[in-house]
Amino acid sequence: MTENIGTVGVVGAGQMGAGIAHAAALSGYDVVLYDLSEERVAKGLSIAAKSFDRQVSSAKIGGAERDAALARIRTATDAGALSRADLVIEAATEDEAAKRKVYAAIAPSLKPGAILATNTSSISITRLAAATDRPERFLGIHFMNPVPVMKLVELVRGIATDDATFESAKRFVATLGKTVTVSEDFPAFIVNRILLPMINEAVYTLHEGVGSVESIDTAMRLGANHPMGPLQLADFIGLDTCLSIMQVLHDGLADSKYRPCPLLVKYVEAGWLGRKTGRGFYDYRGETPVPTR
Ligand code: NAD
Repeated sequence: MTENIGTVGVVGAGQMGAGIAHAAALSGYDVVLYDLSEERVAKGLSIAAKSFDRQVSSAKIGGAERDAALARIRTATDAGALSRADLVIEAATEDEAAKRKVYAAIAPSLKPGAILATNTSSISITRLAAATDRPERFLGIHFMNPVPVMKLVELVRGIATDDATFESAKRFVATLGKTVTVSEDFPAFIVNRILLPMINEAVYTLHEGVGSVESIDTAMRLGANHPMGPLQLADFIGLDTCLSIMQVLHDGLADSKYRPCPLLVKYVEAGWLGRKTGRGFYDYRGETPVPTR
């Protein structure tokens, strides 16, 4: 733990919020995992519990360590529970209006000195900061998915982020055993600026009939040595999140090369958002994933 952070608040108990809660609790932090309903926080807690179980099965941690870490995660549907947090990481839906709503809802509960961070994949940190009551104590702490496995965290300063906040965040990430890269505040930062146009291009490749879901994923796994095919990865990230990042790149950089593929839009409109809804470029409802095209 760091000298000034003991309790971490996590807003949004989706796949990222659950992962961040897992990582923080395992490193000894008390965690408050907050979302809009009991059902959502319970789902988040069960995602975190499954990650701990996987780590016990692969002997990365012991059973007692898992139990202690899990016991450090408290769930809440009342923003007042965030008043104990020294650092609050917002991992709510990738939508600027939703994030603004979060900041307005939690502001009255936060400690005056608390650091507020966003896990946004693409939205301007400076603009989000301006929607909070503490732009100087606001920054981007961008975890990768799945958080328990991925070693990188991108740190992004807004124009107003002060040095003490940035240094505290750096120390916090180090205590999680992860490596920091620093990105300037440009749309989608570094990882997604490069990764998402590739995924979008894979969807165009499918849309234009150049290849099937299986041939595109196999081509990139075996031909470019990627651990996952781009469409499999898109399902894993969430197609709504992928679309939203492409829209941010398209709007923010005003270059037609970032135009979201219409097929990606169609999948999102259908509610086929990938793994989290059971269907995306693959159908996950059976024993093994089956391509949907
Ligand atoms: P998700 O859809 O799995 O979860 C989002 C959660 O936010 C939901 O549980 C929702 O109920 C909650 N939420 C929405 N509005 C809220 C509010 N007002 N108050 C409290 N909770 C609220 O999404 P996710 O994939 O976990 O992504 C969350 C954030 O992390 C996004 O900003 C996303 O860009 C970023 N991110 C995602 C990935 C990824 O691969 N999915 C990777 C890095 C960063």
